[in-house]
Amino acid sequence: MPPNLTDRYSRQLLLNEIGEQGQQRLAESSALIVGCGALGSTIAQSLVRAGVGRVRLVDRDVVELSNLHRQILYDEWDAAAKVPKAKAALARLSRINSSTQLEAEVASYSPHNAESLSADVSIVLDGTDNLEARYIINDACVKQGKPWVYGGAVGTGGVMLPIVPEQGPCLRCLFEEPPPAGSVPTCDTVGVLGTAPILIGALQATAALKLLVGDRSQVGWLTQLDLWTGHHSRVRTKRREACPTCQQRQFEFLTAGGVAWVTTLCGRNAVQISPAKPAAVDLKQVQRGLQKVTEAHYNGLLLTATIEGHEVIIFPDGRAIIKGTTDEIAAKALYDRYIGV
Ligand SMILES: [Zn+2]
Repeated sequence: MPPNLTDRYSRQLLLNEIGEQGQQRLAESSALIVGCGALGSTIAQSLVRAGVGRVRLVDRDVVELSNLHRQILYDEWDAAAKVPKAKAALARLSRINSSTQLEAEVASYSPHNAESLSADVSIVLDGTDNLEARYIINDACVKQGKPWVYGGAVGTGGVMLPIVPEQGPCLRCLFEEPPPAGSVPTCDTVGVLGTAPILIGALQATAALKLLVGDRSQVGWLTQLDLWTGHHSRVRTKRREACPTCQQRQFEFLTAGGVAWVTTLCGRNAVQISPAKPAAVDLKQVQRGLQKVTEAHYNGLLLTATIEGHEVIIFPDGRAIIKGTTDEIAAKALYDRYIGV
């Protein structure tokens, strides 16, 4: 190892858990980080500082002022200039460690690019803000036999699970179907304590470093914690015998029919989002969630709300029309943040 690297990683090299051999493995490793929000920021910074050789970032959003309380890679300048997160992250990370090879994709992670994005990396990290993307990551990684680390943070807590196909449960072993639209709280409806995704992201990065140096002792252990109350738990999870993904190898989230369908409504300056499978959505529950941040009206048939300046209509089958835009990526992002899969 060149002297400058011995110096740079000296405190990490001292750790028995990593040492010179582990450091060499990290340098030869590569990671895909899906989503560069709060989780992704922390994960990316941790892996780049630790000396992972190549890091690929993918994110569809731009930096906004409301991101800054938890998304540690960005600043007020990025928000004012509305810089795409993947680009802002790349600029910041390249100043942190110039020896890491960095790649940034400003794109929506989807069945169309999932497999190619992860084909040539050692591990995938979940920094997403929606469940649909997590099921796509799960399909792609199980199909490719690739480890990935699931993480999620909302409110004052979060969860983390390292997944190694064949060696432990996959996401669908634990949660066979995504929950119906509007049934899961999101950071945009219930809020998030800034330190929650930072801690979950640190746990995800640590789990990735362990896997990259060859330590699989944490595979299948689901960590759950609440930073406000201090409560935390660790549960050993098991593979499901009839898991459609890791046992039957059906990768339905990688096919167009398995994910939400986004279409621009021509001449109406609106985008329609149709969920993967028509769902029976509890619109009253969605209304209760939205009312914490905006006015939402339920007329017994459908729900209307003004979200981030857009009139949004939500139907009982989970379909939504977002008015005032033809930007499908932005409309899908709004749907994921406030309504969910
Ligand atoms: Zn499974």
